[in-house]
Amino acid sequence: MENSAVTVAVRVRPFNAREKTENRLQVIFMKDQETVVQHPVSKHSHSFVYDFSFCSVDVEDPSFASQQTVYQTLARPLLERAFEGFNTCLFAYGQTGSGKSYTMMGFGEEAGVIPRFCQELFSRLASVQKDKVSCHLEMSYFEVYNEKIHDLLVARDNQNHRLPLRVREHPVHGPYVVWLELGNKQRATAATGMNDKSSRSHSVFTLVMTQTKTEFVEEEEHDHRITSRINLVDLAGSERCNSAQTNGERLREGASINMSLLTLGKVISALADQVVNRKRVFIPYRESVLTWLLKESLGGNSKTAMIATVSPAGSNVDESLSTLRYAQQARTIINLAKVNEDTNA
Ligand code: ADP
Ligand code: MG
Repeated sequence: MENSAVTVAVRVRPFNAREKTENRLQVIFMKDQETVVQHPVSKHSHSFVYDFSFCSVDVEDPSFASQQTVYQTLARPLLERAFEGFNTCLFAYGQTGSGKSYTMMGFGEEAGVIPRFCQELFSRLASVQKDKVSCHLEMSYFEVYNEKIHDLLVARDNQNHRLPLRVREHPVHGPYVVWLELGNKQRATAATGMNDKSSRSHSVFTLVMTQTKTEFVEEEEHDHRITSRINLVDLAGSERCNSAQTNGERLREGASINMSLLTLGKVISALADQVVNRKRVFIPYRESVLTWLLKESLGGNSKTAMIATVSPAGSNVDESLSTLRYAQQARTIINLAKVNEDTNA
């Protein structure tokens, strides 16, 4: 995990109802770090290597990756880094319906990365505070749509008037549950009447944690403070990056989503280039709202991870390949010696 600038994982979800009624052909297979795609039409086999692969196709499979597995493997190390004072960031990238929101937020018993991360963070805060460390935590949850930012923690009524916010403490999990519920509800409300808005918007959940330790040196009080910014991001559907989606009536929306996703790719490559070639490279943070917002997490002392989500089905194979290539690029820019993809007929 330490040897690449961006830790990259891939997760394949179970078949959905529609895919089950079609001829249920699984085309993505995983073994250890390797992901193999068998193209149903060209019959080519494509192989990719990532830091982690999570196969969530079949619960009965002994290597099945649960929400807990994904959290423990990919997100928990980021939590450790955050406590050490690093900025951390996790993105979910993939086609609409491939499992980004399920992975990041989940629901109920199948809680995803964000609620699990918060739960562990809160329980750790309670224990570090016993060691004379005081912690300050800020939380925000917003959406980037059409290159504009919408705060999801501002409640509104039917007439779009702001409602006063009441924050109650959840009896078991602490106050964050109430915030998450509100943010998710706002996201859902905004999506109605705009059929597939959620596929075009990015949601960004941010925590800024400041730990202050007061020490006495020769009877003088010294405050030692470490701050870390944590960004957990559910990106717009990656199909919005394809040129076919950026024509005609979709142009304006398509183009701006495209801008954020494309710029994110450019920023990641430029950062990796900087590491590999030990030279300063221009990082185009300001070319999109998303990358501008995430600037602090995308360089310097940040630990960045990406989870690419894909469907197991033959019907989505081309989108899946494009997702896997984007993910591969995020990773192989560092590991130049490794050839991840080979094609054999
Ligand atoms: P996205 O956010 O990428 O558009 P979703 O997370 O909404 O996709 O997933 C689409 C559907 O598939 C949802 O009904 C979700 O519950 C289900 N799903 C996705 N990934 C998994 C998984 N790993 N296990 C079970 N169900 C999943
Ligand atoms: Mg989603």
